[in-house]
Parts: sequence; C-alpha cells; structure tokens
Amino acid sequence: MVRLRKSSLRDKRWVVGWRRLLRVSMVSPSTEIAYDSKIEGEIVVSRLDAVINWIRTNSMWPMPMGLACCAIELMAVAAARFDIARFGAEVMRFSPRQADCMIVAGTVTYKMAPQVRRIYDQMPSPKWVIAMGACASTGGMYRSYAVLQGVDRILPVDVYVSGCPPRPEALLDALLLLQAKVRREPSASRLFKA
Ligand code: SF4
Repeated sequence: MVRLRKSSLRDKRWVVGWRRLLRVSMVSPSTEIAYDSKIEGEIVVSRLDAVINWIRTNSMWPMPMGLACCAIELMAVAAARFDIARFGAEVMRFSPRQADCMIVAGTVTYKMAPQVRRIYDQMPSPKWVIAMGACASTGGMYRSYAVLQGVDRILPVDVYVSGCPPRPEALLDALLLLQAKVRREPSASRLFKA
C-alpha cells in the first residue's frame, strides 16, 4: 500500500498523480476494458482474454456447408435485407483453411458425412459449428436409413437452430449466441497451453 505524507499531499503534483493512480486501480479483474483519455499517453487497460475474444467474436469467417434447402436461407442472411456483415461474419470462405465457423445448413446424408467431417478437420482451431435447421440438428423429417440423425454425431455443435427452414433472423440469433459463448472462453490460457 502506498502512504502519502500530509506534506506531500499539499504538493499539487502529488495529488494529481494520486488521482491518476486511483483511476487506474479502479480496473478490477471483471473489467473488460478501461479507457481514460485524460491519462497521459492514452493508456488502454484490458485483459488478454477480453482482447482475444473481442477479435474472435467480431471476425468470424463462416464455412457455408449448404447441403439442402436451408442453404437458401443461409444465402439470404448475407444479402442486404439481413446483412450478416453487421456482426462481422460476412466473409464466407469456401476454403476450410480460411474459415473458423462451419454452418451446416441442410440434410446430412451418410454419404456426405465423411466429407463434412473432413472439411471440419481441415479448418484451423479455434473453430465452431452451427447446426442450422431441423435436418442438421436432428435429421428432421428424414427418419431414414440414408440420413444422419443430427450432425452432432460427427461434429461438436455449439449452437442449434430450430425450424424447417429457419428464418435468416434465427441464424443471426444463433450467431449472437455463439459470439456470447466465445466471449466467455478462457482463450489466453488455451493459447499458451497449445
Ligand atoms: S430443415 Fe427443412 S428446409 Fe432445412 S434442409 Fe431440412 S427439409 Fe430443408
């Protein structure tokens, strides 16, 4: 603890310095970001987790795994009316090596399942999966020998979107849920462990 003598408190420069110190010490472990332009040099104080997660949540590059009719709604979400760019996820990548969020939109057949898994494996970590629609989530109405009863049998799904087909707004809602999940991840410790 820093103790100030009365005589030094009288010195105006000390008082100004003490106030600045108090402003900085108001940053608690739960504070995401603290900014005070009055501090000389314009210092930004934050946690590494908050910075990494902020970058990740606002720059998700989706891998559009359009397998059936849900893919039409997925296309709509990128158009002007719904504008997924508002959430930083408009850069649809058709190369798995440049994507970090797979959106499985449509019916996954057993014939297609190995390819879906292979593309997921080719995506760099960290990566996330959204199962869009009844078919991707549970097999939907196709209770048949040819259809996988939910893509979570081959992939770790983060968010499920209900509906047949789900509206584009539902996919945006799923993206917001995923962003909220990513914001809570202990990214820094995982990064240094890897
Ligand atoms: S959930 Fe409905 S709209 Fe989506 S792929 Fe299945 S049948 Fe098509």
